[in-house]
Amino acid sequence: MRSLSVLGATGSVGASTLDLVRREPEAWRLVALTAHSNATELARLALEFSAEIAVVADEARLPELREALAGTGIATAGGPAALVEAAARGADVTVAAIVGCAGLAPTMAAIEQGGVIALANKEALVSAGEVMTAAVARHGATLLPVDSEHNAIFQCLQGNNTAHVRWITLTASGGPFRDWSWEQLSAATPAQAIKHPNWDMGAKISVDSATMFNKGLELIEAHHLFPVGLDRLRIIVHPQSIVHSMVEYRDGSTLAQLGPSDMRVPIASALAYPERMDTPCAPLDLAAIGELTFRTPDEDRFPATRLAREAAQAGGAIPAVLNAANEVAVAAFLAGQISFTRIAAQVEDVLNAYMPVAPACLSDVLAVDGEARERARQLMEAA
Ligand code: NDP
Repeated sequence: MRSLSVLGATGSVGASTLDLVRREPEAWRLVALTAHSNATELARLALEFSAEIAVVADEARLPELREALAGTGIATAGGPAALVEAAARGADVTVAAIVGCAGLAPTMAAIEQGGVIALANKEALVSAGEVMTAAVARHGATLLPVDSEHNAIFQCLQGNNTAHVRWITLTASGGPFRDWSWEQLSAATPAQAIKHPNWDMGAKISVDSATMFNKGLELIEAHHLFPVGLDRLRIIVHPQSIVHSMVEYRDGSTLAQLGPSDMRVPIASALAYPERMDTPCAPLDLAAIGELTFRTPDEDRFPATRLAREAAQAGGAIPAVLNAANEVAVAAFLAGQISFTRIAAQVEDVLNAYMPVAPACLSDVLAVDGEARERARQLMEAA
């Protein structure tokens, strides 16, 4: 039996993780389950899985959580510091599935305990970069990618020497707007943006998928997870989302990982690593799928991948600024305050506005994140 914490248990990745755990209850002992504000669902999950502690980041929801778990023996806590303390309890495996840079501090706390971190929370790695990878090395933690593309690349690199890699190719579905004109994109609504053609995901990553910022963030994520050099990382649009990514070696061999568009596959790969476990996903039926197609991304309509590549090249604090500016812009778009095409434009405005110094530790990264959010809001109000 291994111990497990799920940060972001009430979200889409959290639900997929717990669905797998539910199928092998004898294999797992739950330590911490966390949410932002959904105390009702968190309490239900904590009870079902007999977690040690349930934590809501939004302290205003703590009374509700306490009441729901009264007399059960499950500890409760609220607020961002409690989230970090819960992650610092340590577990054999911690699934980092909070959305946004809000997941960074708890993920770093889990890393400091030296266990396995199954990382879905790409914004945390994008923002912290070397601060996080250095902490992983310092504390002897193991970072296993859950993002389907990075999990695919991780699998394709097994048993191979990265010195022989010619290309790492991240596949992108292209999102719901991949064939839309600029005029159509300008009028795209939040409801249209969160309706992804292949994947069922949380609202923020669905918008990121529509803008291609998701792929941009993934490019930076790959740059940290697989340090083969930025010039060896490329992106290709693959509308069917069956090939999750590829690695081409110097001899001309390309290894790809294929699977259904279901996050339970990469999550299972990380949970069971280096073994394998069952998932309830239907076997891949390539004959029924029929065609796998690929095309070059269009960075005129979707500038996010260019901005992300430039941010990765600049390094230092710039990826954290890009991420924070994108989080603010996505929230504004979802709230109906800015148009879809303003998201990338606004991120670029923030990136052009100032040049913060490179962060050396977690508190530096959080300071960069905070300032970038503030500047993004100011620029938005001034526009
Ligand atoms: P969801 O929006 O579905 O869930 C987010 C989770 O984080 C919820 O548990 C939510 O709690 C919690 N949360 C939100 N804000 C905060 C906060 N400020 N502090 C603490 N907890 C918070 O997101 P997804 O599951 O879709 O995505 C999670 C991460 O995984 C993201 O980084 C995403 O990019 C990545 N990812 C997701 C994939 C997917 O298929 N969904 C695929 C690959 C990567 P509450 O429910 O209370 O709001």
